[in-house]
Amino acid sequence: MAENECGFAPLVFRLHGGAPLVVREVLLERGWEEYDEDEQEEGDWNLYWRSSGFRNSDYKNILPWQRLNHHLKMTHITRKDYLARHLRRMKSAFGAALYDFSPAAFILPNEYTKFLGVYTKNRTTDGGKSCYWICKPVHLSRGRGIFLFKDLKDLVYDSSVIIQRYISNPLLISGYKFDLRIYVCVKSFCPLVIYMHQEGLVRFATEKYTLASLDNLYSHLTNTSINKFGLCYAMDKERVGRGCKWTMSKFRSFLHKQDVNELLLWHRISNIITLTLLAAVPCIPSDPNCLELLGFDILIDSSYKPWLLEVNHSPALSLDCPADVTVKKGLINDIIDLMNYRMMDGFRQKEDLRKRYTRSGRWYLQPKIPPLPETLHATPSGKRSWNQCISTSSSSQDTVLCSVNDCARNNSRHASRPIHPNSISTMSSGHEKAPQELEKMRQSHRNTPSSIFKLPSLHIHKLKSPTVPWNRRTQDRDIPPCRVGDFILTFPFNEATWKAAQDQVDVKAIVNEVRKLTNRLGSSFNEKKRTKADSSQSCNAVRDKFESLLWGPKDPPLLSECYSSNSETK
Ligand code: ADP
Repeated sequence: MAENECGFAPLVFRLHGGAPLVVREVLLERGWEEYDEDEQEEGDWNLYWRSSGFRNSDYKNILPWQRLNHHLKMTHITRKDYLARHLRRMKSAFGAALYDFSPAAFILPNEYTKFLGVYTKNRTTDGGKSCYWICKPVHLSRGRGIFLFKDLKDLVYDSSVIIQRYISNPLLISGYKFDLRIYVCVKSFCPLVIYMHQEGLVRFATEKYTLASLDNLYSHLTNTSINKFGLCYAMDKERVGRGCKWTMSKFRSFLHKQDVNELLLWHRISNIITLTLLAAVPCIPSDPNCLELLGFDILIDSSYKPWLLEVNHSPALSLDCPADVTVKKGLINDIIDLMNYRMMDGFRQKEDLRKRYTRSGRWYLQPKIPPLPETLHATPSGKRSWNQCISTSSSSQDTVLCSVNDCARNNSRHASRPIHPNSISTMSSGHEKAPQELEKMRQSHRNTPSSIFKLPSLHIHKLKSPTVPWNRRTQDRDIPPCRVGDFILTFPFNEATWKAAQDQVDVKAIVNEVRKLTNRLGSSFNEKKRTKADSSQSCNAVRDKFESLLWGPKDPPLLSECYSSNSETK
């Protein structure tokens, strides 16, 4: 995309040392400019990307037109020990049947006695034959410090570690272990809005899997950071090929050839993601200026059950191989699209600012705002269609983001440049904004009711209108687009979850909806199995219903479609 996103002065990104190069590359390709702290004013950027977390002051001083790529306090789910604790809490609150997707875990040294109890019980029941354990330092990543053991005498640690039951029956491809790196974007925590990327990576171990050698990390760990140093990395391995990565599309085509019911698998994975994020929701302060890209590591066992291994705070975005290039460049482009810096937002926000400034009796120059194209306002009948409702779903912060940026930049950094005819000529008579003024803007941004603007969708042509009969009130809220690039909306997935995700996120209500959905999908799939032999027709009907769920190759519908059609027939 050569032209800038807003049609005004280029948007500006700021990278912290160590931020992935692919982010710079994609943003430059899209016409963004890189922030130069010697040349530009302190607040004169739109997106600040860091691999590590931000400081509290970064959140405190954020301006309406700025975005950060992390929320505060994400360690609640991205640190191995915290995640284990949260999932345990959710399991006891909502039942082991739903929260059965993470291997049993113990945080040592504190839970040593507890672990010893389980370990000993295991040894006595089956002689310890089937139980293997994996030990991971809680504060490290990329496979560092990890080892496997079967016998307690081999457990040695000198820092805080997590001991997890080792999933010893992984699904293998030609004898090689693999796991899935699923990219998830939390657009906001309140309301909770989750997107799952259709592309992702499959990461292989580079030596054949065997329990006979627990200390061979090339056979048991799937981290690229480890396997790229393996002797077999560059070899053309049976079916897997060279290197240690596949794209998710390749994996899906593999599953397809194996006649695997991948839809149920993706549904389960989507549930894991929602249920895991729900565990963190009460701890994470909601900030409309942040979004989070997470890497969920999912291992599939030989019975096709997906297990959550961990959640990565800043999933690796280095481009080590062709699969990386395909997946990660697309991913970053889609993330930027999700952030929704758009020209239309600018026009409307200017209008809003103009009104607010008029109301508050401030001096301003009348902006020349062209009328929006008819099609963005109404259907030929003058009423908003569902299509428009679903596509007017960008959140209010998106609205604010772009246009204030334009104003501010036209006022400051680009004061000497010709001002776009459609931009507000001045907000503060050409002077730099006083700190109180910025604070006021911040406050008004935060207090802007979400219903002020309804914006056209980013990918209007790509959106599919759910058939969900959501009521008018719900439609009038900012419903997120069901698809942005390859990001598929996986939460909320129906009206009930959308309502429960607002304001104070109602975790209990959401968990109940996930449970209902799971039961319904589960029973439909069981039904399909039972009748497989004698009723190919009904089997087709079930397949039709779920075929494109989430991971269909094109325009998958929302889970809610399938959910609501189910509930309607009951
Ligand atoms: P890190 O943050 O260091 O990458 P992970 O928890 O992702 O730590 O573990 C690294 C790798 O070890 C995983 O990618 C996976 O291949 C393997 N692994 C981790 N936990 C388990 C487990 N419980 N069962 C089976 N394999 C595991």
